[in-house]
Parts: sequence; structure tokens; C-alpha cells
Amino acid sequence: MTIMLTGGTGYIGSHVAATLLSTGQPIVCFDNLANSDASVIDRLEAITGASVPLVVGDIRDGQALRQAMTDHAVTAVIHFAGLKAVGESVAEPMKYYNNNVGGTLSLVEAMADCGAKTLVFSSSATVYGQPQYLPLDEDHPTSATNPYGRTKLMIEEMLADIAAADPAWRIAILRYFNPVGAHDSGLIGENPNGIPNNLMPFITRVAAGRLAELSVFGADYDTPDGTGVRDYIHVLDLADGHVVALDAIGQAEPALSTWNLGTGQGYSVLDMVKAFERVNGVSIPYRIAPRRDGDVASCYASPERAARELGWTASRDLDAMCASSWRFEQTLAMRNSA
Ligand code: NAD
Ligand code: UDP
Repeated sequence: MTIMLTGGTGYIGSHVAATLLSTGQPIVCFDNLANSDASVIDRLEAITGASVPLVVGDIRDGQALRQAMTDHAVTAVIHFAGLKAVGESVAEPMKYYNNNVGGTLSLVEAMADCGAKTLVFSSSATVYGQPQYLPLDEDHPTSATNPYGRTKLMIEEMLADIAAADPAWRIAILRYFNPVGAHDSGLIGENPNGIPNNLMPFITRVAAGRLAELSVFGADYDTPDGTGVRDYIHVLDLADGHVVALDAIGQAEPALSTWNLGTGQGYSVLDMVKAFERVNGVSIPYRIAPRRDGDVASCYASPERAARELGWTASRDLDAMCASSWRFEQTLAMRNSA
């Protein structure tokens, strides 16, 4: 009864790995290390005391997937592997369709061949496009404003077709809002290559003096302080959501279910800056910059369906998100200087 985590050495995958291992669940990580490092496995082993198998491979390689599934007796897959940089997806759409859509097709084919038809898929609130109402529930119309978002939508539609054709599939589509924060140990967290696109890793690098100042993308939105509002969710709450979703699809009737994973609470960019400064006793220099193309004013979840159907709600607050993000950045600095 092993669960395969594609993209298991990445930011979210490594936290779900830690959570699953802490319950004694055997896992195998399958990752091509395109955006992560094999040393994550050593740190997962240090956190959990368990041995963590890693298969270095690409999800577009069906033979490698089938081999790994057979070798490790995989019965279910949590599928994190994918490329996620919106700007890069606009510049290099073929790379995104190939990796994300092509990779997922290759994965589900391998799963079908191996008789492992239980799948949890990492989708995103980006599939809601420009919000027509708030909070966003799962019935909100979907659309995409960039190739990255379109890959998520295409995959969701592909999975719906697969579930409709063969009800033996058990599929959970999890639409993440804005995952932030890190494991309490400080050993795993979000460490993007190059200059971060996302707000929290940018803030931690400014706090650490690795970047000079934060650019706040727009202060003239129709929000309480004019800056963009998002639903930030602690990555460990997100991880718990995967565990309960996997459990629920093993038991429930519909072959495919879709759940938002968010808190339902929106915070502005300046709320985040102030909370980070207060909680960690650091200063975040910032300047107001023009809006970023494609950004919406506000985006936050209705987490009600997950609460009702999964009994899951996020429990960690903004202070915990800020404190753990900073702890990870400091631990990383110590490791890099050692
Ligand atoms: P990440 O880049 O840290 O992790 C993704 C992992 O997938 C990386 O380790 C990468 O090496 C691996 N990978 C990519 N392509 C692969 C391939 N072809 N074969 C094997 N491995 C491959 O990203 P993350 O933040 O952990 O995101 C995980 C998933 O969640 C992604 O699908 C992402 O689109 C989705 N998601 C993330 C966020 C977010 O804000 N982080 C929000 C919504 C959805
Ligand atoms: N943001 C910002 N400066 C940055 C990065 C992000 O002001 O350097 C803002 C962005 O405009 C949005 C919020 O922070 O309002 C969250 O952005 P992020 O890229 O983290 O998530 P997403 O846009 O996917 O919701």
C-alpha cells in the first residue's frame, strides 16, 4: 500500500511526504529534480526517522513510471509534478503543455496499466480566472488567463473524462489557494530558483537581505488598502487536506470530486508585510510598483465543501505562516554557510 508522490521533492510534495510519513504511510517520491534537490530526501529522513525512497525520473517516461509503480507496489498517486511559473508559461507554452498535460496523460496511462486508479491532483485557484463573485466556491465558472492555468484546466477536464469512462477510478482534484509557510523543523520549505515570483519567498529574501526591497504590485485595487488580496494557507494545513481527501475518495461514491483548499480568509499584500515584520521582528522595505499583468484584485476560497465533506478546515494562522517561513529561510542560510 505505497503512495507515489510525483514531484515529491518539491515544495508542497515534500510537506505532504512529511505528513504521510508521520502517520507511518509508506511512500515513494518520483521526481526529475527539475525544480528541486535530492537533498530534500535526507532532510525528510531526518524529520521523520523513516527511509524515503526516491526515484529520479520524468513523468513523461511511462516505462520509468510503470517500473517504479511495480517495484514499490504503488496503489495510489498524489500528483504534484508540474511546472508552475505563469510568466514562463506565456513565453514557453509548448514546454508547459508538454510537461504538465503530456506528463499527466503519461501518468494516468501508467496508473491504468498498473491497476492503480486512485489519484489526487494538484490544481489551483487559477482555474477560476477573474472572480465573478467571492468567496470562490467549486461551482464558480472556470477559465484561464495564461497557459499555466490552461494546463490545469485541461488536466481537470481530462480527469473528468477518465472518471466518467471508468468509475473504478477514484480521483480528487484539489484546488489550492496560496500555499505559504514551512515545516516546523525549518528543514523543508519553499526555495525557488532565481528571483521568486511569489510573495512570501520574496518577503523572506528581503528580510534576509538577499533582495533589497519588495515591489508591491499595485496599490489601487478595489480592496481595503488598495493592494491585492489572497487566501494564504499554511502548507501543513494543505498537507492535511491531501491526507483526508485520499482517505475520502477511497470510500466515497463519485469517481471524481473537487475540493478547494483555502482558509476563506483574505489578506492584502500589506497585511502580509506587516504581519511578517511583527511576528519576526524584522523590517521589510517595500515600494509601490505598477500592477502585475494578469493579477486579480481579490481571490479567496469558500472552504465549506471541504469542511462539510472531508471534515477538514485550516487551523494554522497567519502568524504561524510568517514564523515558519522565516525559520526556514534562516535554517537555509545556516546550511548554506556551513
Ligand atoms: P515545485 O516546483 O516546488 O514542485 C514540483 C516538483 O515537480 C518539482 O520537484 C519538480 O522537479 C517536479 N517536476 C516537474 N516536472 C516534472 C516531470 N516532468 N517529471 C517529474 N517531476 C517533475 O512546486 P510546488 O509549489 O510544490 O507545486 C506542486 C504542484 O502544486 C504543482 O503542480 C503546482 O502547479 C501546484 N500548485 C502550486 C501552487 C503554489 O503556489 N505553490 C498553487 C497552486 C497549485
Ligand atoms: N505580489 C507583490 N509583489 C511580489 C509578488 C507578489 O506585490 O513580488 C502580490 C501579487 O500582486 C498578489 C499577491 O502578492 O497580489 C500574491 O501573489 P503570488 O504571486 O504569491 O500569488 P498569486 O498571484 O498566484 O495569487
